[in-house]
Amino acid sequence: MNQWVVLSGKGGTGKTSLVASFARLAGNAVLADADVDAANLAIALGAKRINDKDFYSGETAVIDSDTCTACGACLEVCRYDAIEEHDPAFSIDGLACEGCNACVLVCPTQAITLRENRAGQIMESETEFGMLVHAELGVAEDNSGKLVAEVIETAKKKADDIDAEVLLVDGPPGIGCPVHASVTGADRMLAVAEPSSSGLHDLDRLLDLADHFKVKVYVAINRYDTAPDVTDMIEKHCLEKGKEVIGRIPFDPDIPKGLCKGKVPFDAAQDSTKKAIKDLWQAWKNR
Ligand code: SF4
Ligand code: SF4
Repeated sequence: MNQWVVLSGKGGTGKTSLVASFARLAGNAVLADADVDAANLAIALGAKRINDKDFYSGETAVIDSDTCTACGACLEVCRYDAIEEHDPAFSIDGLACEGCNACVLVCPTQAITLRENRAGQIMESETEFGMLVHAELGVAEDNSGKLVAEVIETAKKKADDIDAEVLLVDGPPGIGCPVHASVTGADRMLAVAEPSSSGLHDLDRLLDLADHFKVKVYVAINRYDTAPDVTDMIEKHCLEKGKEVIGRIPFDPDIPKGLCKGKVPFDAAQDSTKKAIKDLWQAWKNR
């Protein structure tokens, strides 16, 4: 089973629409949406949820008000201002607590315990093109790298179960920890860029990251015709870095219009866009 990841140096490049279109072309594939901060591949594919499980990460302190004697020792040691004083007991603001354990150590009546923190949810959904694993990070939770790793691990198991040819991962934007988690174990990467100077800067950082992780990376430029000169410049820059631009996708207003009506991006696209996406998929597959 091959693990292929599609990434972009920033959000809004049309990466998810491309992955959703690849899903139509991939055949025997399992899909994973690793953009756990803003997962939307399920929406683009009209997925139906069939299973979910809670994701736990970190710990949060909890005060047993029956045992608390309101001595104030915990308030003194908490460096995160997570302890709130209410007359006569104390309580903890779960969003501010970092689970450092200091309050547990100083509490003279053992009124404080650390509990595992429910930080999100991992979901399995059916789509017309195969199983999709995706997730939702809870409000104010920040361990998205670990959640991405769990999404990909769950999707890998599904892919092994059905002997899928490819695990296709819609990666998160940027170059941070969640991106590292989505690149780990990948056989190849497609970096999607938009034709703008900031797009080139974001792409550059992504290409360096791929080199760091020793993942073979190819480049696609989306909406290339909105700035053909910049597209040429990006392509030249990629060549100088030894990276190949294997696809140019035109701007296609029918895709967002189709998404509003619940159409899969590839199905909504104009014929010329369909051809460009098909050529890109074939080029990526054949490399
Ligand atoms: S240290 Fe323990 S007993 Fe004292 S206020 Fe905090 S929770 Fe209550
Ligand atoms: S565990 Fe640490 S951060 Fe949380 S309330 Fe206790 S002292 Fe504050």
